[in-house]
Amino acid sequence: MRIVSFLSRITDTILPRQCVSCGCRLAICEDTLCASCRMSLPRTGFAGDMYCNDMAKLYYGLADIERSAAYMFFVPHSDSAQVIYQFKYFDKPEYAVSMGRIMAQEIMPSGFFDGMDVIVPVPLSASRKRKRGYNQSHMLAQGVAEITGLPVEDRVLCRDSFLQSQTILFGIQRRMNVEGAFKAENTHFVENKHILLIDDVVTTGATTLECATKLLEISGTKVSVLSLGYSRH
Ligand SMILES: [Zn+2]
Repeated sequence: MRIVSFLSRITDTILPRQCVSCGCRLAICEDTLCASCRMSLPRTGFAGDMYCNDMAKLYYGLADIERSAAYMFFVPHSDSAQVIYQFKYFDKPEYAVSMGRIMAQEIMPSGFFDGMDVIVPVPLSASRKRKRGYNQSHMLAQGVAEITGLPVEDRVLCRDSFLQSQTILFGIQRRMNVEGAFKAENTHFVENKHILLIDDVVTTGATTLECATKLLEISGTKVSVLSLGYSRH
């Protein structure tokens, strides 16, 4: 729900905001998506089954992940995917913050966030971040932080190299592409903490697996994973 101030009433009249998905004019209390598009997002329901859903199974036998959830299915070129394209490719970081809030509000009652201490977003390489101007996973994390009150820590993971965009790679190739791509530093910030790792879209789980593995090497940590989208591959 959007906080409606006097100023936002005025700006809404002068510059009407549009639903990212269907383009209709947003009501004053709506944020990013109209009520109808928000209602019809293809939710996964994973948070209701946080230990053994399809995403959790990606990590079985590979890393000891506590809980896993994705808010919605990522269906390429669908109406619901528009919001993800907007913050990934069209310079709309505010949509990622807003979707972070929306997913946290809905997931919260499941107890998914209970006992967690800190959020770590999946980092971008320095060159990719320079190009885009922001890290969309950090923006999602910021939205989740607004609802849960958890702090966001982005000084712990860094991405060494970005060999190739993950988008055009498949399965084992993705795994090889991210191997050794992440490094943990300033580890004292998350020692003995339950970390929530946040990514925008999880497909094979290769990126989150690599990050989680680095975080689990730090003394006393537990790691859970949350993404906005889950793409069935
Ligand atoms: Zn709409």
